[in-house]
Formats: sequence, structure tokens, C-alpha cells
Amino acid sequence: MDQRQLISIVVPAFNEEAVLPQFHQTISEVLSEQPFDFEIVYINDGSSDNTLGIINELRQADKQVTLIDLSRNFGKEIALTAGLQKAAGDAVIVIDADLQDPPELIPDLIREWQNGYDVVYAQRTHRKGESLFKRTTAHFFYRIIQRISKIAIPEDTGDFRILSRRAVNALNTFGEQHRFMKGLFAWIGYSQKAVHYQRDPRHAGETKWNYWKLWNFALDGITSFTTAPLKISTYLGLFTAASAFVYGIYMVIETLIYGNPVPGYPSLIVIILILGGVQLVAIGILGEYLGRIFNETKRRPLYFINEYLPSQQSGSSQAANDRTTEDQTYPQ
Ligand code: UDP
Ligand code: MG
Repeated sequence: MDQRQLISIVVPAFNEEAVLPQFHQTISEVLSEQPFDFEIVYINDGSSDNTLGIINELRQADKQVTLIDLSRNFGKEIALTAGLQKAAGDAVIVIDADLQDPPELIPDLIREWQNGYDVVYAQRTHRKGESLFKRTTAHFFYRIIQRISKIAIPEDTGDFRILSRRAVNALNTFGEQHRFMKGLFAWIGYSQKAVHYQRDPRHAGETKWNYWKLWNFALDGITSFTTAPLKISTYLGLFTAASAFVYGIYMVIETLIYGNPVPGYPSLIVIILILGGVQLVAIGILGEYLGRIFNETKRRPLYFINEYLPSQQSGSSQAANDRTTEDQTYPQ
């Protein structure tokens, strides 16, 4: 009997009761036409609605379904990490539950993986149903991070992608708390390829991202991949000091030539304000890094699992057999 390869589909779900049944149906239809075994790993990320109940129902009806129920809401990046660590497949596909990542693209991803690529990511050509502001800020963000970090993170790319077993193993060695997954996917290297698609608006339910969260996401992205802001504050400091020095010389000369009639209040107050501002910004940047160092040094586990119910599928691959010996809830 020649064994079919197993592909894991990792789906983080936080309050997705409105869309999950539809998602499962759509993806099952796509998968049924593929000559592989599949396991669909749903990670319930501490949902407050009936997401867990629905996953349990899906699991009763479909032997491909794996359930990971996290002990609380940890956020998408961590939910994804839990899924990647538990996934048993020879390849792993990461996809959102809200049908914004079209399951119809999965055959294309699988094909490129079979062609030997380790990471095949879906790159969108359009964003329907998203505000101009969100589109521009997203675009701007990718541009900035591209510029200042040494890792090329592909633009207009979400987490939707297929990863080979060795790419997943590589990702599973990362122990950091602040996980900017898009960056980590790029950081591991190996052969990567883009597949293009159009991004649809969310199918049902609400997006869990507000601008404050997106801002923090961007901060994580920047601070975990580059120390450029620290350098910028150094140069800003040098520039202000140099300007102050030049201005100081000018003042001395002016006083020597014209005497000192004691005006200068406006220039004084402007300089004090500029210096104070620059210092506060620089301290703030330091603080962003320091805070992250603080979080990392605690070396807390990334998540806890409330319940883990593997599918009847996941025992069938070599990767799964390897996993059982090193089964752990968090990296060492
Ligand atoms: N998600 C999660 N934990 C969270 C927030 C989101 O697991 O704390 C999941 C969510 O259920 C969805 C995916 O992450 O499957 C993407 O979330 P969302 O659609 O809200 O983000 P967007 O598409 O706007 O980037
Ligand atoms: Mg979405």
C-alpha cells in the first residue's frame, strides 16, 4: 500500500461562529478533489461565542478535523504557532477562517509545493471592501519594513500559504514572544514563491483588527526585525547636538560684535521644546525595545492548551510519528 502524503490545514478561529460552517464546507469541497490525505486543524483562540461548539460538531461529522482549544485568547499569531506545532502533515497550509483567503487557491499552492518550493505564499492583487485608509496604511507599512529591515517581506501578502515540513520545523524552533509571523516566514529563507489572487471582503462576522491593534502589529513587525529606529534616534540626537553647537558659535560671535541686548526668549523656548521632544521620542523608542526585551527574558510559554483532540488522520504520516516523541506545548 503506497501511503498518501498528509497535508495539514491550520485555521485559527476567534469568534467565527458566523462563518465557520460555510468555511468548512467550502474547504472540504476543494480538498476532496485532491489526491492527498488532509487534516484540518481548527484552533479555538478563546472565543466567547459558540466557535468551540461548532468545531466539536464538525469533528463529530468529519474525521479530518483536529481541535486545539487554547486556554484563553492569545491572538492570531500565537494561535497560528500552536497550530503549526501540532500540525502533523508533510506540508502545512495556513488559512484564515473568514473565507478572505480563497480555498480555491489551495490546489495552486499544493502544485508549487510539489514543484519543490518550501514556502508558497498567496499574494493579493486587489483588496475589495477595505477602506482607502487601510489600503494606504498597509501599503506604506510594507514599504517601510522593506526599506529598513534586511529581510524582504513580500508586500500584499497575508499568512495564507503552504509550508513544507522542513519550513514548519524551522518555524517551530522560534521561541520568541513577539511573533511577527509574516516576518518569520520570510526570515527562515528556503525557496519561496508567490501565487496571485484577488482578496475578497470578509464573508461574515467582524474583523478583529482595529487601528490600535494594527499599529501595535506594525510596531512588533518593525521592532522584531530591525534596530533601525534606535539608530535613527542616535542620528537625530547627533544632528540636534551639531545644530546646537553651530548655533552656539553664531551666538558667541553675534554677542561679541553687537553686544548683548538680552532678547532671545523665543529662540530659547523653541530650542528647549525641540530638545525635550527629541529626547522623549528617543526614550520612547528605547522603551519599545526595552519592553520587548523584558517580555522575552521572562521566557514564558507561548500558550496553554485546554483541550487537544487530534483527527483520525494525523497518525498517518512520518512527520506525525516524529512529532509524538517531541510533543510539547512550547519551544524550549
Ligand atoms: N484570529 C485569531 N485570534 C485573534 C484574532 C483573529 O485566531 O485574536 C483569527 C480569526 O478568527 C481569523 C484570522 O485570525 O481566522 C484573521 O482574523 P481577521 O479576519 O479578524 O483579520 P484580517 O483578515 O482583518 O487581517
Ligand atoms: Mg479577515
